[in-house]
Amino acid sequence: MLNKKSVDDINVKGKNVLVRCDFNVPLQEGKITDENRLVAALPTIKKLIADGGRVILCSHLGKPKGQPLPELSLAPVAVRLSELLGQEVKFAADAEVVGANAKAAAAAMQDGDVILLENTRYRAEETKNEETFSKDLASLADIFVNDAFGTAHRAHCSNVGVTKYMKENAVGYLMQKEIDFLGNAVNNPERPFVAILGGAKVSSKIPVIENLLDKVDVLIIGGGMSYTFSKAMGGNVGESLLEEDYCDYALKMMKKAEEKGVKLLLPVDNVIADGFSNDANTQVVKRGCIPDGWEGLDIGPETAKLFADAAKQAKTVVWNGPMGCFEMPKFAVGTEAVAKALAETDAVTIIGGGDSAAAVNQMGYGDKMTHISTGGGASLEFLEGKELPGVAAADDK
Ligand code: AMP
Repeated sequence: MLNKKSVDDINVKGKNVLVRCDFNVPLQEGKITDENRLVAALPTIKKLIADGGRVILCSHLGKPKGQPLPELSLAPVAVRLSELLGQEVKFAADAEVVGANAKAAAAAMQDGDVILLENTRYRAEETKNEETFSKDLASLADIFVNDAFGTAHRAHCSNVGVTKYMKENAVGYLMQKEIDFLGNAVNNPERPFVAILGGAKVSSKIPVIENLLDKVDVLIIGGGMSYTFSKAMGGNVGESLLEEDYCDYALKMMKKAEEKGVKLLLPVDNVIADGFSNDANTQVVKRGCIPDGWEGLDIGPETAKLFADAAKQAKTVVWNGPMGCFEMPKFAVGTEAVAKALAETDAVTIIGGGDSAAAVNQMGYGDKMTHISTGGGASLEFLEGKELPGVAAADDK
């Protein structure tokens, strides 16, 4: 387990603390349509307030690409955060993020005060991790707390660059939770350990497959990526998603799994359609029996049962990527069967962020999972065994 300094290990009384949050919330006409990320940030912020810190919050919002776009201002977040915290969150409206407003507000802070900086991506340097903006941010505070797991796989000014100029760097409660759950599941799992991978492409999941083959007892592969395996085994996949260049790789992975004693489960049947549409005609066929003009858009009922049974026998399950085109209700059945199986087990269930997290929440199983990661890309890189720059930059305990 990673042993990073957390907000429980630092003394913030009377000190300016810069906190990198993930306030990248959906906005419609200036209104926040889902405030989960704000609510999730509260425990860390409240802890710092209670300890007498002077709390300076920052985050990115959307992709303004270095431009101060008014529609991507964090101003509405400051308003809602004030309500949620029950105290004023002063908004420093500077197009350059660290400008006259931010500097004056930071200088005037009392213990327990909270201010919010403008969207860090208003500055072009942010995503390039350039020194100028890192130094600007660091000039406001002595201590840095990173609570934004969603960007931990990126090295930007506001989560990595800034840490070079701080006296202390810690992680917040949200970040700590992600590291603990994902880290424990992958590196210290209670066995049997089952990983379920899905989604569109094999090519984007290669590092995950490679890393997990060294760790799991059972590897389940569904979704669009499974058709490359079907094809590699000599089957017909019709118009299904296929990466021909990766067929050899698929065979190699199957061999590797066998050598390592990992049970590799692939779909045994598929729901196929005569068009990429919820209104298309459908039928269920055995693996590798997809006629021309048809494409596989979901796992079939036999596969759903096979995968669900495997998940039910596990003590730890990690899931990343849907089993089919779950965005269309007709092809969400396989993904739902897996979600339901996970919801019903007593196993530790960890859901990688992104599509699988969206599917689980959308299907109403969110509160039945042990942990749903808040970071799609970040959780994937974690499962690849990579060190996340945003985590690495925090001080060790
Ligand atoms: P990824 O970002 O690689 O995890 O892929 C997620 C996307 O894969 C989702 O939008 C799914 O709709 C899509 N997907 C899953 N299964 C299939 C399939 N059989 N055919 C086409 N797309 C799929």
